Amino acid sequence: MSIELLTRPTREPLRPGPAQLREVRKALEDRFDEERLLVNADRRQAYAQDWSSAGRHMPDLVVKAESTADVQAVLAAATEHQVPVTPRGLGTGKAGGALPIYGGIVLSMERMNRIEGIEVADMQVTAGPGTVTGDLMRAVEEQGLFYPPDPNSFDICSIGGNVACNAGGPRALKYGTTKNYVRALQVVLPTGKLVQLGQRTAKSSTGYRVADLIVGSEGTLGIITQVTMRLIPRPDAVETALVSFANAVRASEALTAVIAAGIVPRTLELLDHHALDAVRAKTPGRFPDDAGAVIILETDGRTAKQAFEDLERAADVCTAHGALDVLLAQDEAQRKRIWEPRRVLSVTLRETAPRKISEDIVVPRSQIPTMLAAVSRIGEQRRVRVAAYGHAGDGNLHVNVLFDDSSTERADAAVRDVICETVRLGGTISGEHGIGLLKRDFLPLEQSEDLMGVQRALKATLDPHHILNPGKVLPPGVSAP
Ligand SMILES: Cc1cc2nc3c(=O)[nH]c(=O)nc-3n(C[C@H](O)[C@H](O)[C@H](O)COP(=O)(O)OP(=O)(O)OC[C@H]3O[C@@H](n4cnc5c(N)ncnc54)[C@H](O)[C@@H]3O)c2cc1C
Repeated sequence: MSIELLTRPTREPLRPGPAQLREVRKALEDRFDEERLLVNADRRQAYAQDWSSAGRHMPDLVVKAESTADVQAVLAAATEHQVPVTPRGLGTGKAGGALPIYGGIVLSMERMNRIEGIEVADMQVTAGPGTVTGDLMRAVEEQGLFYPPDPNSFDICSIGGNVACNAGGPRALKYGTTKNYVRALQVVLPTGKLVQLGQRTAKSSTGYRVADLIVGSEGTLGIITQVTMRLIPRPDAVETALVSFANAVRASEALTAVIAAGIVPRTLELLDHHALDAVRAKTPGRFPDDAGAVIILETDGRTAKQAFEDLERAADVCTAHGALDVLLAQDEAQRKRIWEPRRVLSVTLRETAPRKISEDIVVPRSQIPTMLAAVSRIGEQRRVRVAAYGHAGDGNLHVNVLFDDSSTERADAAVRDVICETVRLGGTISGEHGIGLLKRDFLPLEQSEDLMGVQRALKATLDPHHILNPGKVLPPGVSAP
Protein backbone atom coordinates (compact mmCIF):
# COMPACT_ATOMS: atom_id res chain seq x y z
CA MET A 1 0.00 0.00 0.00
CA SER A 2 1.58 3.27 -1.05
CA ILE A 3 1.56 6.40 1.07
CA GLU A 4 -0.14 8.08 -1.86
CA LEU A 5 -3.10 5.71 -1.59
CA LEU A 6 -3.28 6.10 2.17
CA THR A 7 -3.36 9.87 2.02
CA ARG A 8 -5.57 10.41 -0.99
CA PRO A 9 -8.94 12.07 -0.40
CA THR A 10 -11.81 9.62 -0.11
CA ARG A 11 -13.55 9.57 -3.44
CA GLU A 12 -17.34 9.84 -3.49
CA PRO A 13 -18.37 7.52 -6.33
CA LEU A 14 -20.53 8.59 -9.22
CA ARG A 15 -23.80 6.86 -9.99
CA PRO A 16 -23.20 4.16 -12.59
CA GLY A 17 -24.19 5.20 -16.13
CA PRO A 18 -26.50 3.26 -18.49
CA ALA A 19 -23.61 1.51 -20.27
CA GLN A 20 -22.08 0.26 -17.00
CA LEU A 21 -25.47 -0.98 -15.82
CA ARG A 22 -26.15 -2.74 -19.11
CA GLU A 23 -22.81 -4.53 -18.91
CA VAL A 24 -23.09 -5.56 -15.26
CA ARG A 25 -26.65 -6.80 -15.82
CA LYS A 26 -25.46 -8.87 -18.79
CA ALA A 27 -22.73 -10.41 -16.64
CA LEU A 28 -25.18 -11.23 -13.83
CA GLU A 29 -27.85 -12.68 -16.13
CA ASP A 30 -25.48 -15.52 -16.96
CA ARG A 31 -25.65 -16.68 -13.35
CA PHE A 32 -28.95 -15.48 -11.83
CA ASP A 33 -32.47 -16.18 -13.10
CA GLU A 34 -35.29 -13.61 -12.90
CA GLU A 35 -36.29 -14.78 -9.42
CA ARG A 36 -32.87 -13.79 -8.11
CA LEU A 37 -31.97 -10.84 -10.32
CA LEU A 38 -34.66 -8.20 -10.00
CA VAL A 39 -34.70 -5.66 -12.79
CA ASN A 40 -38.31 -4.40 -12.88
CA ALA A 41 -38.95 -1.26 -10.86
CA ASP A 42 -41.97 -2.69 -9.03
CA ARG A 43 -39.89 -5.62 -7.75
CA ARG A 44 -36.97 -3.38 -6.76
CA GLN A 45 -39.21 -1.01 -4.75
CA ALA A 46 -39.06 -3.14 -1.61
CA TYR A 47 -35.29 -2.66 -1.46
CA ALA A 48 -35.37 1.15 -1.74
CA GLN A 49 -35.97 1.79 1.94
CA ASP A 50 -35.30 0.45 5.41
CA TRP A 51 -36.62 1.32 8.89
CA SER A 52 -34.68 4.57 9.07
CA SER A 53 -36.03 8.01 8.25
CA ALA A 54 -33.48 8.36 5.41
CA GLY A 55 -36.01 8.19 2.58
CA ARG A 56 -36.18 6.08 -0.58
CA HIS A 57 -33.13 5.23 -2.70
CA MET A 58 -33.90 2.99 -5.64
CA PRO A 59 -31.34 0.30 -6.57
CA ASP A 60 -30.74 -0.27 -10.27
CA LEU A 61 -30.57 -4.03 -9.72
CA VAL A 62 -31.29 -6.38 -6.82
CA VAL A 63 -29.53 -9.73 -6.51
CA LYS A 64 -30.61 -12.41 -4.03
CA ALA A 65 -27.53 -14.44 -3.12
CA GLU A 66 -27.88 -18.11 -2.17
CA SER A 67 -24.21 -18.93 -1.63
CA THR A 68 -20.80 -17.44 -0.95
CA ALA A 69 -19.92 -18.09 -4.59
CA ASP A 70 -22.91 -15.93 -5.62
CA VAL A 71 -21.57 -13.07 -3.49
CA GLN A 72 -18.13 -13.44 -5.04
CA ALA A 73 -19.63 -13.42 -8.53
CA VAL A 74 -21.57 -10.21 -7.83
CA LEU A 75 -18.49 -8.46 -6.45
CA ALA A 76 -16.38 -9.59 -9.39
CA ALA A 77 -18.91 -8.18 -11.89
CA ALA A 78 -19.35 -5.00 -9.86
CA THR A 79 -15.60 -4.46 -9.68
CA GLU A 80 -15.17 -5.02 -13.39
CA HIS A 81 -17.87 -2.49 -14.28
CA GLN A 82 -17.32 -0.11 -11.32
CA VAL A 83 -20.86 -0.43 -9.97
CA PRO A 84 -21.57 0.08 -6.25
CA VAL A 85 -22.87 -2.86 -4.18
CA THR A 86 -24.93 -2.38 -1.01
CA PRO A 87 -25.31 -5.48 1.18
CA ARG A 88 -28.71 -5.94 2.78
CA GLY A 89 -29.92 -8.30 5.49
CA LEU A 90 -33.61 -7.87 6.26
CA GLY A 91 -33.74 -4.07 6.04
CA THR A 92 -34.64 -3.24 9.66
CA GLY A 93 -31.63 -0.96 10.12
CA LYS A 94 -32.33 2.46 11.57
CA ALA A 95 -29.32 4.38 10.27
CA GLY A 96 -29.92 3.96 6.52
CA GLY A 97 -26.96 1.57 6.14
CA ALA A 98 -28.69 -0.71 3.62
CA LEU A 99 -29.82 2.10 1.31
CA PRO A 100 -28.17 2.24 -2.14
CA ILE A 101 -27.62 5.99 -2.15
CA TYR A 102 -25.62 5.85 -5.40
CA GLY A 103 -27.89 3.26 -7.02
CA GLY A 104 -26.12 0.16 -8.36
CA ILE A 105 -26.74 -3.30 -6.90
CA VAL A 106 -28.46 -4.20 -3.65
CA LEU A 107 -27.14 -7.61 -2.64
CA SER A 108 -29.76 -9.25 -0.45
CA MET A 109 -28.73 -12.00 1.95
CA GLU A 110 -32.31 -13.00 2.78
CA ARG A 111 -32.03 -16.43 1.10
CA MET A 112 -28.81 -17.39 2.93
CA ASN A 113 -30.89 -18.23 5.98
CA ARG A 114 -29.96 -21.78 6.95
CA ILE A 115 -28.82 -22.79 10.41
CA GLU A 116 -25.91 -24.97 9.39
CA GLY A 117 -25.08 -26.58 12.71
CA ILE A 118 -25.46 -26.32 16.47
CA GLU A 119 -22.42 -27.79 18.20
CA VAL A 120 -23.54 -28.45 21.74
CA ALA A 121 -20.18 -29.55 23.19
CA ASP A 122 -18.39 -26.57 21.63
CA MET A 123 -21.30 -24.30 22.52
CA GLN A 124 -21.54 -22.58 19.16
CA VAL A 125 -23.91 -22.19 16.23
CA THR A 126 -23.03 -21.69 12.57
CA ALA A 127 -25.55 -20.04 10.28
CA GLY A 128 -26.08 -18.17 7.06
CA PRO A 129 -26.09 -14.38 7.44
CA GLY A 130 -29.75 -14.05 6.40
CA THR A 131 -30.96 -16.28 9.25
CA VAL A 132 -33.65 -14.50 11.26
CA THR A 133 -32.13 -13.82 14.68
CA GLY A 134 -35.24 -15.08 16.50
CA ASP A 135 -35.09 -18.41 14.60
CA LEU A 136 -31.47 -18.84 15.69
CA MET A 137 -32.34 -17.97 19.30
CA ARG A 138 -35.19 -20.49 19.45
CA ALA A 139 -33.19 -23.24 17.71
CA VAL A 140 -30.33 -23.08 20.22
CA GLU A 141 -32.71 -22.82 23.19
CA GLU A 142 -34.24 -26.16 22.13
CA GLN A 143 -30.76 -27.66 22.71
CA GLY A 144 -30.45 -26.15 26.22
CA LEU A 145 -28.21 -23.33 24.96
CA PHE A 146 -28.69 -19.56 24.85
CA TYR A 147 -27.83 -16.79 22.40
CA PRO A 148 -28.23 -13.67 24.57
CA PRO A 149 -28.20 -10.64 22.19
CA ASP A 150 -31.88 -9.78 21.70
CA PRO A 151 -32.48 -6.73 19.51
CA ASN A 152 -36.16 -5.90 19.85
CA SER A 153 -36.42 -6.57 16.13
CA PHE A 154 -35.25 -10.19 16.64
CA ASP A 155 -38.15 -11.66 14.68
CA ILE A 156 -37.58 -9.43 11.63
CA CYS A 157 -33.80 -8.84 11.46
CA SER A 158 -30.92 -11.08 10.37
CA ILE A 159 -27.92 -12.38 12.29
CA GLY A 160 -25.61 -11.03 9.54
CA GLY A 161 -27.18 -7.58 9.93
CA ASN A 162 -26.68 -7.89 13.70
CA VAL A 163 -22.97 -8.61 13.24
CA ALA A 164 -22.64 -5.82 10.67
CA CYS A 165 -24.19 -3.31 13.10
CA ASN A 166 -22.93 -4.86 16.36
CA ALA A 167 -26.54 -5.02 17.52
CA GLY A 168 -27.50 -4.88 21.17
CA GLY A 169 -30.77 -5.32 22.98
CA PRO A 170 -32.30 -5.26 26.46
CA ARG A 171 -30.19 -8.21 27.68
CA ALA A 172 -26.90 -6.49 26.73
CA LEU A 173 -26.84 -5.14 30.29
CA LYS A 174 -25.90 -8.55 31.65
CA TYR A 175 -24.64 -10.38 28.57
CA GLY A 176 -23.05 -7.80 26.26
CA THR A 177 -23.70 -7.13 22.59
CA THR A 178 -23.28 -9.14 19.38
CA LYS A 179 -19.49 -8.59 19.32
CA ASN A 180 -19.13 -10.63 22.50
CA TYR A 181 -20.53 -13.70 20.72
CA VAL A 182 -18.71 -13.66 17.36
CA ARG A 183 -16.25 -16.56 17.07
CA ALA A 184 -15.67 -16.87 13.35
CA LEU A 185 -16.87 -15.16 10.19
CA GLN A 186 -16.66 -16.03 6.54
CA VAL A 187 -16.33 -12.77 4.64
CA VAL A 188 -16.08 -11.82 0.99
CA LEU A 189 -13.89 -8.75 0.65
CA PRO A 190 -14.84 -6.03 -1.84
CA THR A 191 -12.24 -7.38 -4.27
CA GLY A 192 -14.08 -10.74 -4.28
CA LYS A 193 -11.49 -12.54 -2.11
CA LEU A 194 -12.93 -14.99 0.44
CA VAL A 195 -11.40 -14.92 3.95
CA GLN A 196 -12.08 -16.95 7.09
CA LEU A 197 -11.79 -14.68 10.11
CA GLY A 198 -11.60 -15.55 13.80
CA GLN A 199 -11.52 -19.12 15.02
CA ARG A 200 -14.05 -21.85 15.78
CA THR A 201 -12.40 -22.33 19.16
CA ALA A 202 -13.14 -20.87 22.59
CA LYS A 203 -9.85 -18.93 22.57
CA SER A 204 -7.45 -17.57 19.98
CA SER A 205 -4.57 -15.11 20.10
CA THR A 206 -3.40 -15.71 16.55
CA GLY A 207 -2.74 -12.61 14.49
CA TYR A 208 -4.68 -9.39 14.23
CA ARG A 209 -8.32 -9.55 15.26
CA VAL A 210 -9.62 -8.81 11.77
CA ALA A 211 -13.03 -10.35 12.53
CA ASP A 212 -13.51 -7.60 15.12
CA LEU A 213 -12.98 -5.03 12.38
CA ILE A 214 -15.84 -6.49 10.35
CA VAL A 215 -18.17 -6.42 13.38
CA GLY A 216 -19.89 -3.03 13.27
CA SER A 217 -18.45 -2.12 9.86
CA GLU A 218 -22.01 -1.86 8.46
CA GLY A 219 -21.29 -3.62 5.19
CA THR A 220 -18.54 -1.19 4.16
CA LEU A 221 -15.50 -3.50 4.52
CA GLY A 222 -16.78 -6.93 3.52
CA ILE A 223 -19.87 -9.07 3.06
CA ILE A 224 -20.49 -11.66 5.78
CA THR A 225 -21.53 -14.96 4.22
CA GLN A 226 -21.41 -17.19 7.31
CA VAL A 227 -21.30 -16.61 11.07
CA THR A 228 -20.22 -18.84 13.95
CA MET A 229 -21.54 -17.49 17.23
CA ARG A 230 -20.59 -18.45 20.78
CA LEU A 231 -23.42 -19.72 23.01
CA ILE A 232 -23.86 -20.04 26.77
CA PRO A 233 -25.95 -22.40 28.89
CA ARG A 234 -29.64 -21.47 28.87
CA PRO A 235 -30.70 -19.76 32.11
CA ASP A 236 -33.97 -21.52 32.84
CA ALA A 237 -35.38 -19.22 35.50
CA VAL A 238 -36.52 -15.70 34.63
CA GLU A 239 -38.31 -13.14 36.82
CA THR A 240 -39.82 -9.94 35.43
CA ALA A 241 -41.20 -6.87 37.20
CA LEU A 242 -42.62 -3.53 36.16
CA VAL A 243 -41.39 -0.76 38.45
CA SER A 244 -43.18 2.64 38.42
CA PHE A 245 -41.70 6.03 39.21
CA ALA A 246 -42.90 9.63 39.27
CA ASN A 247 -40.58 10.60 36.42
CA ALA A 248 -37.69 9.39 34.27
CA VAL A 249 -34.96 11.13 36.28
CA ARG A 250 -36.10 9.36 39.49
CA ALA A 251 -36.21 6.06 37.59
CA SER A 252 -32.71 6.55 36.23
CA GLU A 253 -31.34 7.39 39.69
CA ALA A 254 -32.81 4.12 40.95
CA LEU A 255 -31.37 2.01 38.17
CA THR A 256 -27.95 3.55 38.67
CA ALA A 257 -28.26 2.59 42.36
CA VAL A 258 -29.21 -1.00 41.47
CA ILE A 259 -25.98 -1.46 39.52
CA ALA A 260 -23.95 0.35 42.18
CA ALA A 261 -25.30 -2.17 44.71
CA GLY A 262 -23.57 -4.93 42.73
CA ILE A 263 -26.73 -6.42 41.24
CA VAL A 264 -26.68 -7.12 37.49
CA PRO A 265 -30.23 -7.76 36.26
CA ARG A 266 -30.53 -8.98 32.70
CA THR A 267 -32.60 -5.94 31.75
CA LEU A 268 -33.26 -2.46 33.12
CA GLU A 269 -35.39 -0.93 30.37
CA LEU A 270 -36.69 2.58 30.87
CA LEU A 271 -39.77 4.25 29.37
CA ASP A 272 -40.35 7.97 29.95
CA HIS A 273 -43.76 9.67 30.06
CA HIS A 274 -43.92 10.35 26.29
CA ALA A 275 -43.26 6.67 25.62
CA LEU A 276 -45.83 5.65 28.25
CA ASP A 277 -48.47 7.99 26.77
CA ALA A 278 -47.99 6.37 23.36
CA VAL A 279 -48.30 2.85 24.83
CA ARG A 280 -51.36 3.79 26.88
CA ALA A 281 -53.10 5.22 23.81
CA LYS A 282 -52.39 2.08 21.74
CA THR A 283 -52.73 -0.67 24.35
CA PRO A 284 -54.58 0.68 27.40
CA GLY A 285 -54.12 -1.11 30.71
CA ARG A 286 -50.63 -2.48 30.10
CA PHE A 287 -48.76 0.03 32.29
CA PRO A 288 -49.95 1.78 35.49
CA ASP A 289 -51.90 5.01 34.81
CA ASP A 290 -50.19 7.02 37.55
CA ALA A 291 -46.58 6.29 36.50
CA GLY A 292 -44.48 9.09 34.99
CA ALA A 293 -41.83 6.51 34.01
CA VAL A 294 -41.36 2.76 34.32
CA ILE A 295 -38.47 0.32 34.40
CA ILE A 296 -38.78 -3.24 33.11
CA LEU A 297 -36.60 -5.11 35.56
CA GLU A 298 -35.71 -8.69 34.67
CA THR A 299 -33.36 -11.16 36.32
CA ASP A 300 -32.39 -14.69 35.38
CA GLY A 301 -30.40 -17.65 36.70
CA ARG A 302 -30.05 -21.40 36.70
CA THR A 303 -32.61 -21.69 39.52
CA ALA A 304 -35.86 -19.88 40.35
CA LYS A 305 -34.48 -19.08 43.80
CA GLN A 306 -31.45 -17.27 42.37
CA ALA A 307 -33.50 -15.25 39.85
CA PHE A 308 -36.09 -14.31 42.47
CA GLU A 309 -33.52 -13.27 45.09
CA ASP A 310 -31.81 -10.95 42.58
CA LEU A 311 -35.13 -9.47 41.57
CA GLU A 312 -36.10 -8.90 45.20
CA ARG A 313 -32.81 -7.15 45.99
CA ALA A 314 -33.07 -4.92 42.91
CA ALA A 315 -36.70 -4.08 43.69
CA ASP A 316 -35.72 -3.14 47.26
CA VAL A 317 -33.11 -0.71 45.92
CA CYS A 318 -35.72 0.80 43.57
CA THR A 319 -38.18 1.21 46.45
CA ALA A 320 -35.50 2.93 48.54
CA HIS A 321 -34.97 5.31 45.59
CA GLY A 322 -38.56 6.40 45.16
CA ALA A 323 -40.30 3.61 43.24
CA LEU A 324 -44.08 4.04 43.48
CA ASP A 325 -44.93 0.43 42.82
CA VAL A 326 -43.38 -2.93 41.85
CA LEU A 327 -45.59 -5.33 39.89
CA LEU A 328 -44.21 -8.86 39.55
CA ALA A 329 -45.23 -10.94 36.52
CA GLN A 330 -46.80 -14.16 37.80
CA ASP A 331 -46.47 -16.24 34.65
CA GLU A 332 -45.30 -16.24 31.03
CA ALA A 333 -48.51 -14.54 29.83
CA GLN A 334 -47.96 -11.61 32.19
CA ARG A 335 -44.30 -11.36 31.16
CA LYS A 336 -45.44 -11.10 27.56
CA ARG A 337 -47.93 -8.35 28.42
CA ILE A 338 -45.08 -6.32 29.87
CA TRP A 339 -42.62 -6.93 27.02
CA GLU A 340 -44.94 -6.67 24.02
CA PRO A 341 -45.40 -2.87 24.15
CA ARG A 342 -41.67 -2.40 24.71
CA ARG A 343 -40.70 -4.58 21.73
CA VAL A 344 -42.88 -2.49 19.37
CA LEU A 345 -42.35 0.89 21.03
CA SER A 346 -40.41 2.31 18.08
CA VAL A 347 -43.38 1.55 15.79
CA THR A 348 -45.89 2.84 18.36
CA LEU A 349 -44.08 6.17 18.67
CA ARG A 350 -43.81 6.46 14.90
CA GLU A 351 -47.62 6.30 14.76
CA THR A 352 -47.94 9.32 17.08
CA ALA A 353 -46.36 11.93 14.80
CA PRO A 354 -45.98 12.57 11.07
CA ARG A 355 -42.20 12.43 11.40
CA LYS A 356 -39.72 10.85 13.79
CA ILE A 357 -35.94 10.93 14.10
CA SER A 358 -34.48 8.20 16.33
CA GLU A 359 -31.17 8.67 18.04
CA ASP A 360 -29.38 5.83 19.77
CA ILE A 361 -27.01 7.52 22.17
CA VAL A 362 -25.01 6.07 25.07
CA VAL A 363 -23.64 7.96 28.05
CA PRO A 364 -21.67 6.61 31.01
CA ARG A 365 -24.33 5.04 33.23
CA SER A 366 -23.68 7.57 35.99
CA GLN A 367 -24.66 10.35 33.55
CA ILE A 368 -28.08 8.95 32.66
CA PRO A 369 -30.01 11.22 35.10
CA THR A 370 -28.17 14.28 33.69
CA MET A 371 -28.84 13.16 30.12
CA LEU A 372 -32.53 12.59 30.77
CA ALA A 373 -32.86 16.03 32.35
CA ALA A 374 -31.10 17.49 29.27
CA VAL A 375 -33.44 15.63 26.89
CA SER A 376 -36.46 17.11 28.63
CA ARG A 377 -34.91 20.61 28.60
CA ILE A 378 -34.03 20.33 24.89
CA GLY A 379 -37.61 19.32 24.04
CA GLU A 380 -38.96 22.38 25.88
CA GLN A 381 -36.41 24.79 24.42
CA ARG A 382 -36.86 23.56 20.83
CA ARG A 383 -40.64 23.11 21.25
CA VAL A 384 -40.76 19.53 19.94
CA ARG A 385 -41.80 16.31 21.64
CA VAL A 386 -38.73 14.27 22.60
CA ALA A 387 -39.36 10.77 23.95
CA ALA A 388 -36.62 8.80 25.69
CA TYR A 389 -36.67 5.08 26.31
CA GLY A 390 -34.42 2.08 26.00
CA HIS A 391 -31.59 0.15 27.51
CA ALA A 392 -30.93 2.70 30.24
CA GLY A 393 -29.22 0.10 32.42
CA ASP A 394 -26.20 0.29 30.15
CA GLY A 395 -26.53 3.99 29.46
CA ASN A 396 -28.16 3.48 26.04
CA LEU A 397 -31.17 5.70 25.35
CA HIS A 398 -33.33 5.82 22.24
CA VAL A 399 -34.09 9.51 22.01
CA ASN A 400 -36.96 10.03 19.53
CA VAL A 401 -37.74 13.49 18.23
CA LEU A 402 -41.40 13.57 17.11
CA PHE A 403 -42.56 16.39 14.86
CA ASP A 404 -44.39 17.50 11.71
CA ASP A 405 -43.26 19.27 8.55
CA SER A 406 -43.82 22.72 10.07
CA SER A 407 -41.19 22.09 12.78
CA THR A 408 -38.40 20.41 10.80
CA GLU A 409 -35.78 23.03 11.65
CA ARG A 410 -36.54 22.90 15.36
CA ALA A 411 -36.46 19.09 15.25
CA ASP A 412 -33.06 19.09 13.52
CA ALA A 413 -31.77 21.56 16.11
CA ALA A 414 -33.06 19.32 18.92
CA VAL A 415 -31.28 16.30 17.40
CA ARG A 416 -28.02 18.24 17.23
CA ASP A 417 -28.45 19.42 20.84
CA VAL A 418 -28.95 15.80 21.95
CA ILE A 419 -25.85 14.64 20.09
CA CYS A 420 -23.71 17.52 21.44
CA GLU A 421 -24.86 16.89 25.02
CA THR A 422 -24.09 13.18 24.63
CA VAL A 423 -20.54 13.88 23.51
CA ARG A 424 -20.10 16.53 26.24
CA LEU A 425 -21.04 13.93 28.86
CA GLY A 426 -18.39 11.51 27.55
CA GLY A 427 -20.86 9.43 25.56
CA THR A 428 -21.09 7.97 22.07
CA ILE A 429 -23.54 8.76 19.28
CA SER A 430 -24.53 5.18 18.51
CA GLY A 431 -24.88 2.30 20.95
CA GLU A 432 -26.26 -0.31 18.57
CA HIS A 433 -27.88 0.99 15.36
CA GLY A 434 -24.62 2.14 13.75
CA ILE A 435 -23.73 5.33 11.89
CA GLY A 436 -24.90 4.42 8.38
CA LEU A 437 -26.06 7.41 6.42
CA LEU A 438 -28.04 9.31 9.01
CA LYS A 439 -25.33 9.89 11.60
CA ARG A 440 -22.37 10.12 9.25
CA ASP A 441 -22.14 13.89 9.46
CA PHE A 442 -22.18 13.82 13.27
CA LEU A 443 -19.12 11.54 13.45
CA PRO A 444 -16.62 14.47 13.61
CA LEU A 445 -18.33 15.64 16.81
CA GLU A 446 -17.16 12.46 18.52
CA GLN A 447 -14.07 11.31 16.61
CA SER A 448 -10.89 13.18 15.79
CA GLU A 449 -9.84 13.84 12.17
CA ASP A 450 -6.88 11.48 12.75
CA LEU A 451 -9.12 8.65 13.89
CA MET A 452 -11.45 9.09 10.93
CA GLY A 453 -8.36 9.20 8.69
CA VAL A 454 -7.20 5.82 10.04
CA GLN A 455 -10.60 4.35 9.25
CA ARG A 456 -10.54 5.85 5.73
CA ALA A 457 -7.13 4.25 5.21
CA LEU A 458 -8.53 0.86 6.29
CA LYS A 459 -11.45 1.30 3.93
CA ALA A 460 -9.09 2.19 1.05
CA THR A 461 -6.96 -0.89 1.78
CA LEU A 462 -9.86 -3.33 1.76
CA ASP A 463 -11.97 -1.59 -0.87
CA PRO A 464 -9.52 0.09 -3.28
CA HIS A 465 -12.23 0.66 -5.93
CA HIS A 466 -14.64 2.07 -3.36
CA ILE A 467 -17.55 -0.03 -4.55
CA LEU A 468 -18.83 -1.54 -1.28
CA ASN A 469 -21.62 0.43 0.37
CA PRO A 470 -20.12 3.81 -0.53
CA GLY A 471 -21.11 6.95 1.33
CA LYS A 472 -21.77 5.22 4.65
CA VAL A 473 -20.23 5.60 8.12
CA LEU A 474 -17.30 7.91 7.25
CA PRO A 475 -17.82 11.49 6.08
CA PRO A 476 -15.70 12.36 3.03
CA GLY A 477 -12.20 13.53 3.97
CA VAL A 478 -8.53 12.61 3.79
CA SER A 479 -7.04 9.23 4.82
CA ALA A 480 -4.22 9.23 7.35
CA PRO A 481 -1.47 6.58 7.53
C1 LIG B 1 -38.81 -2.31 15.72
C2 LIG B 1 -37.29 -2.31 15.70
C3 LIG B 1 -36.60 -2.52 16.88
C4 LIG B 1 -35.20 -2.53 16.88
N1 LIG B 1 -34.55 -2.79 18.05
C5 LIG B 1 -33.20 -2.88 18.04
C6 LIG B 1 -32.49 -3.20 19.25
O1 LIG B 1 -33.08 -3.40 20.32
N2 LIG B 1 -31.14 -3.28 19.18
C7 LIG B 1 -30.46 -3.08 18.00
O2 LIG B 1 -29.23 -3.18 17.99
N3 LIG B 1 -31.10 -2.75 16.87
C8 LIG B 1 -32.44 -2.66 16.85
N4 LIG B 1 -33.09 -2.35 15.68
C9 LIG B 1 -32.32 -2.05 14.46
C10 LIG B 1 -32.04 -3.24 13.51
O3 LIG B 1 -32.98 -4.28 13.69
C11 LIG B 1 -30.63 -3.75 13.71
O4 LIG B 1 -29.70 -2.75 13.35
C12 LIG B 1 -30.29 -5.04 12.93
O5 LIG B 1 -29.01 -5.47 13.33
C13 LIG B 1 -30.32 -4.86 11.42
O6 LIG B 1 -30.36 -6.15 10.82
P1 LIG B 1 -30.93 -6.33 9.33
O7 LIG B 1 -30.80 -7.75 8.95
O8 LIG B 1 -32.31 -5.78 9.22
O9 LIG B 1 -29.89 -5.43 8.53
P2 LIG B 1 -30.12 -4.36 7.38
O10 LIG B 1 -31.01 -3.26 7.83
O11 LIG B 1 -30.50 -5.05 6.13
O12 LIG B 1 -28.63 -3.80 7.22
C14 LIG B 1 -28.04 -3.06 8.26
C15 LIG B 1 -26.57 -2.80 7.90
O13 LIG B 1 -25.85 -4.02 7.89
C16 LIG B 1 -25.27 -4.27 6.62
N5 LIG B 1 -25.41 -5.71 6.37
C17 LIG B 1 -26.53 -6.47 6.48
N6 LIG B 1 -26.23 -7.75 6.24
C18 LIG B 1 -24.91 -7.81 5.97
C19 LIG B 1 -24.00 -8.86 5.64
N7 LIG B 1 -24.40 -10.13 5.53
N8 LIG B 1 -22.70 -8.54 5.43
C20 LIG B 1 -22.26 -7.26 5.53
N9 LIG B 1 -23.08 -6.24 5.84
C21 LIG B 1 -24.37 -6.51 6.04
C22 LIG B 1 -26.04 -3.38 5.64
O14 LIG B 1 -25.23 -3.01 4.54
C23 LIG B 1 -26.38 -2.19 6.52
O15 LIG B 1 -25.30 -1.28 6.57
C24 LIG B 1 -34.49 -2.31 15.66
C25 LIG B 1 -35.20 -2.09 14.48
C26 LIG B 1 -36.58 -2.09 14.49
C27 LIG B 1 -37.30 -1.87 13.20
